[in-house]
Amino acid sequence: DDQLPDLVIVGAGLFGLTVAQQAVEKTGARVVMLDVRDHIGGNAYSYFDKETGAEIHKYGAHLFHTSSEVVWKYVNRFTTFTNYVHRVYTTHNGEVFPLPINLGTVNQFFRASYTPAEAKALIDEQAGELAGKDPQNLNDKGISLIGRPLYEAFIKNYTAKQWQTDPTELPASIISRLPVRFNYDSRYFKDTWEGLPTDGYTAWFERMIDDPRIEVKLGVDFFDESQPWNKSALVGRVPVVYTGPIDRYFNYSHGELKWRTVDFVERRYDEGDHFGCPVMNFADSDVPYTRAIEFKNFNPERRAQQNPDKTVVWEEYSRFASREDEPYYPINTESDKSLYETYSELADQEPNVVFGGRLGTYKYYDMHQVIATALASFERTIEPMLAGKE
Ligand code: UDP
Repeated sequence: DDQLPDLVIVGAGLFGLTVAQQAVEKTGARVVMLDVRDHIGGNAYSYFDKETGAEIHKYGAHLFHTSSEVVWKYVNRFTTFTNYVHRVYTTHNGEVFPLPINLGTVNQFFRASYTPAEAKALIDEQAGELAGKDPQNLNDKGISLIGRPLYEAFIKNYTAKQWQTDPTELPASIISRLPVRFNYDSRYFKDTWEGLPTDGYTAWFERMIDDPRIEVKLGVDFFDESQPWNKSALVGRVPVVYTGPIDRYFNYSHGELKWRTVDFVERRYDEGDHFGCPVMNFADSDVPYTRAIEFKNFNPERRAQQNPDKTVVWEEYSRFASREDEPYYPINTESDKSLYETYSELADQEPNVVFGGRLGTYKYYDMHQVIATALASFERTIEPMLAGKE
């Protein structure tokens, strides 16, 4: 068919962008990329705020980090990175503590001057109630990592606000993301490389697909049969990479996968710096939002281009997503996991359709993981599918 490209990609997030870039570079394919939104970049999209000069991450804070040399080399082809190192603070009981929980947090909390060995011994004793058990859920994992007092101060209420699911129902892996350290290292991520794209996320993404063989169609809904780039018109006729919600693809025929969504409330202050840091978490239940993001502070290297007298802050609220909401985080209870398996088996039977990304595989991925899976999926599945095309 002359009118069809060699590959259609549904979703212009990091999975789709990486596949588009690879398809053109490795096979010279003509690619059409669709997105229902009016911009590329998926949830990593950002824009510059006129009043303050802040780069606003429209779907919440995105911090790039990776320990994969392949991924780090790949992303550096399209952007340089600032020397930003992510550090977070949390407010608990009217006091500000460093996160992730480290020796500074422990000593401030217990008003002590424990050495690493002393702090470890104390935590071991406090975690003793679960001694010998392999923690299977977030509650048990939290207590066994840091003991009940610290768990209840910094994890329990925050997690309740963020997930609105009983912590004993949540997978332990959610907080395995957060390291616990018995030294004063307060870096949030333990990866080899981290930083923010020097000219912003959107400039990075535009460079990935800056090629005449890639056409991006924005505001196009793949499930809207009144426009030509829809599912029934394309699947089976052209290879498709689908990065939307997997349950949506199958018209929710076996039920809905559960997601958490995030709402933001914007505040503007007539001051240069409101929190003194980019991210302030609120550990207690009296503050209804989980955290506040002060975007200017992600990019101190841009001070000269920022307004010294104004700042913009987004308060982040978390709740269950309905079908109409933007899905952010898979909730991943046992019943969600088995429902996903059902959809995943259906997906395997779709002719020439590859599912990818956070939404397409119901996975709590960071940006670097999405890029890694896109590169792998391209090599393993998509490139062979395109073989034979010019
Ligand atoms: N968490 C917490 N207190 C905090 C920060 C994180 O209890 O102050 C827990 C919470 O359960 C959260 C998980 O750790 O879901 C992972 O946090 P992370 O900051 O990685 O979440 P993300 O930024 O991806 O939403």
